[in-house]
Amino acid sequence: MASVEDELVDYDEEADAVDENDSSKQVKKGSYTGIHASGFKDFLLKQELMRSIVDCGFEHPSEVQHEVIPQANLGMDVICQAKSGMGKTAVFVLTTLHQVETEGDAQVKVLVLCHTRELAFQISNEFQRFSKYLTDVKTGVFYGGVPVRENIKVLKTACPHVVVGTPGRILALVKSKDLDLSHVKHYVMDECDQLLGELDIRKDVQQIFMATPHDKQVMMFSATLSKEVRPICRKFCQDPMEIYVDDEAKLTLHGLKQYFVDVTEAEKNRKLNDLLDALEFNQVVCFVGGASSDGNVRRGKARSETLSKLLEECSFPSIYIHGKMRQQERLTRYKRFKDFEKRILVATDLFGRGMDIERVNIVVNYDFPKVADQYLHRVGRAGRFGTKGLAISFISSEEDRAVLKEVQERFTADINPLPDSIEVSSYMNA
Ligand code: AMP
Repeated sequence: MASVEDELVDYDEEADAVDENDSSKQVKKGSYTGIHASGFKDFLLKQELMRSIVDCGFEHPSEVQHEVIPQANLGMDVICQAKSGMGKTAVFVLTTLHQVETEGDAQVKVLVLCHTRELAFQISNEFQRFSKYLTDVKTGVFYGGVPVRENIKVLKTACPHVVVGTPGRILALVKSKDLDLSHVKHYVMDECDQLLGELDIRKDVQQIFMATPHDKQVMMFSATLSKEVRPICRKFCQDPMEIYVDDEAKLTLHGLKQYFVDVTEAEKNRKLNDLLDALEFNQVVCFVGGASSDGNVRRGKARSETLSKLLEECSFPSIYIHGKMRQQERLTRYKRFKDFEKRILVATDLFGRGMDIERVNIVVNYDFPKVADQYLHRVGRAGRFGTKGLAISFISSEEDRAVLKEVQERFTADINPLPDSIEVSSYMNA
């Protein structure tokens, strides 16, 4: 093990002496808008993948797909900051499936880590969707909150080639020697700043990394990759291709109309009711939790439950989700919302990143987020893949105002006061 440990240097040491201004390998995106004109066929992907791309209705690759897929298909390490909802999942799903070999004994060849269980579930669905015609490829998804013996049974009876999971459960399976990562060829970290930001999770990720072979492809993705987290990312990679959106203004979603409204805490429920009555929506995600006027974190669990029940009493088809729920319950609720059984989801930041629900066209920040980055992730739940959407934020304290100011400045986001009426065509696709 010593040699493997050597390769991953200690985090406490000085950040890598990589010059941020050395542009030799960084691709700085001038424009992050449009969908690229070249076709998927230019990527020379396996025929089976091309068929599922057609089935999914993907016509043209997005810019991040155009930029990264060819390099990743060659096995290059990748660190990629990609705007929310612009198809980064397909980048690693397609390129790992393109490269994966399934001959011989079933072994785990692709490992994807992400920070929430719902996201793991969603990513594994994407692997299943795209591997529909690659009939040999098996995908497994492992996360906490479900009995570990179920995971072990899957690993023993039909070892998957692709494993998607959250760090805690994956590490537990590695430690118990039920999950053998010694044949992994592709190591992917989605929402990698979440995986590397907090020391506890980072330690798990690092230990999992050390259980994989030295010779493998590493790919890391997020919509937000601060300058502080980049050197940490590089420690996992060998000579990576790096793509950053250094001009944060470019992270703003163009199909998204963004407004704020000043309300007191007591006025929030009335305002939300009025909005839901007045606006036309397919589906809405309403975020609770965040900074409170006294600087404390508002308790998302209780708030999500109370608010959702209140909406239901007012005859709105609402459901809530938070991280303290049992895993099975979380997943059931996620599916009910995704399947359009419920039109409104009241959620904590658990749902703030990566979740892709096509029909969501409105995001309401009932509580404004504590940090500016989180605003970007939350509102990215609407306006997916360049579609139209609407984000409305309730501002009720000085702290809220300060974060709003930061969002407006950093992302040059056009967030205006909520007008009396909003043209439906500005936030609903025809
Ligand atoms: P992601 O950013 O990976 O969460 O993807 C956002 C949404 O865009 C998902 O619903 C994808 O299925 C969809 N998507 C990704 N790539 C394409 C594409 N090239 N054409 C159309 N839709 C896409």
